[in-house]
Amino acid sequence: MERVHNFNAGPAVLPEEVLREAQADLFNYKGMGLSVMEMSHRSKEYQAIIDETHATVKRIYGLGDDYDVLFLQGGASMQFLMVPLNFAFEGKEVNYINTGQWSKKAIAEAKKIGKNVHVAATSEDRNFAYIPKTWKLSDNPAYLHITTNNTIFGTEWKKDPDIPAGIPLIADMSSNFMSKPIEVKKYDLIYAGAQKNVGPAGAVVVIIKKSLLEKANPGLPTMLDYNTHAKKGSMFNTPPCWTIYMIGLVLKWVESFGGLAMVEKNNIAKADYIYKVIDESNGFYKGTVDKEDRSLMNITFRMESEELEALFISEAKKQGMIGLKGHRDVGGCRASTYNSLPLPAAKALSEFMREFQKKNG
Ligand code: PMP
Repeated sequence: MERVHNFNAGPAVLPEEVLREAQADLFNYKGMGLSVMEMSHRSKEYQAIIDETHATVKRIYGLGDDYDVLFLQGGASMQFLMVPLNFAFEGKEVNYINTGQWSKKAIAEAKKIGKNVHVAATSEDRNFAYIPKTWKLSDNPAYLHITTNNTIFGTEWKKDPDIPAGIPLIADMSSNFMSKPIEVKKYDLIYAGAQKNVGPAGAVVVIIKKSLLEKANPGLPTMLDYNTHAKKGSMFNTPPCWTIYMIGLVLKWVESFGGLAMVEKNNIAKADYIYKVIDESNGFYKGTVDKEDRSLMNITFRMESEELEALFISEAKKQGMIGLKGHRDVGGCRASTYNSLPLPAAKALSEFMREFQKKNG
C-alpha cells in the first residue's frame, strides 16, 4: 500500500528512510539477535546508541561543553512543571510570554505550584494571531519562558529574542525544534517533545546550559530534578530506549539532508506552496494569523463555513492527504509541514487546494 501525505500535528510523519532503517533493525539489531526495544539499557550497545544521539543533537546545534542534552519522559507537559520547580528562584518572578494554548498551560502549571508568575506580553487580545514584538519583564525575573512555535494557532517567532544578560531564556520548541538554524546560545534551556520534528512520542529532548543546571533549586523530588538526569546521562531510570534510538536515526537524516540550513530551505519551500494558494485565493482560504508571524510548521486557515471545511478535509482524505483538521479548540484547517514531510506532499496539497477552490469557489 502507498503511504499517505501526512499533515498530522503530532505524532507526525517520519522520514521514509528512517522507517525503513528501523524496520531493518527491528528484528535483529546489528546481528545481536534482538531489537533495540528488547535490549538492556545498561548494555554497551545501548550506551552507544544514547551517546551517539546525544552527540548528534550537540553537533546539529553546534553546542559546546557548556551545554548538556537530556532525554526525559512526561512529554513537554512535564516540562511545564519542571521548569518552574527547578528555576523559580526564591524572591524572583517567573516571566512568560503568552502566545497561545501551550503557553497558557505552562503559565497555569507555574501558578498551580504557587510560583509568582508575571506575563510579560500576550497576544490574546487578537486570539493569538501574532507574536508580541515587545514585552515588559518584571523587576526581578527568574527567567523568561517563550513558546517558539504555536502549534494550534500557527504563529512562530522569527527572531530569537534579545533579553538582558543574566536572565535565563527558556523555550518550548516542541513544534519547531531543529526546523531551522537558531541563535542557540541565546537560550539557557530548550525543550521539545520528540513527536513532531525528531521522532516518535515518548521522549522530550532538553538542551540545558550547565550554568543554569548548577543553580537549580535544591531538595526537589528526584525525578523532577534536572540534575538527577544530568548526573546519570539520562539513565537514572530506564529511559524511553526505542524513542531515543529513533531520534538518533531522525537526527542522522537531518545531517544527511545538509543540516539545519537545508532543512529550513526545504521547510520554506513547502510552506510557500501552501501560503501562496491561500494568498491567491481571493479570500476563499483565509489565513488566521499575521503574515509576518506565520509558522513554517503549522499552517492554519479557515473557509467560509464549517461545512465547506469538513468537505475539504474529507475530499483531501480521498486524495491520500490526512491530518488537515484544525485543533479541536479552534476548528478550521491546519496543515503541519514538519521537517520530515516531503516537498511533493506540500506541492500535492497546494494543487488539491487550487482544484478544490475551482470546484467550490
Ligand atoms: N508545547 C507545544 C508547543 C505543543 O505543541 C505540545 C503538544 N502538541 C505540547 C507542548 C505538549 O506536548 P506533550 O504532549 O509532549 O506533553
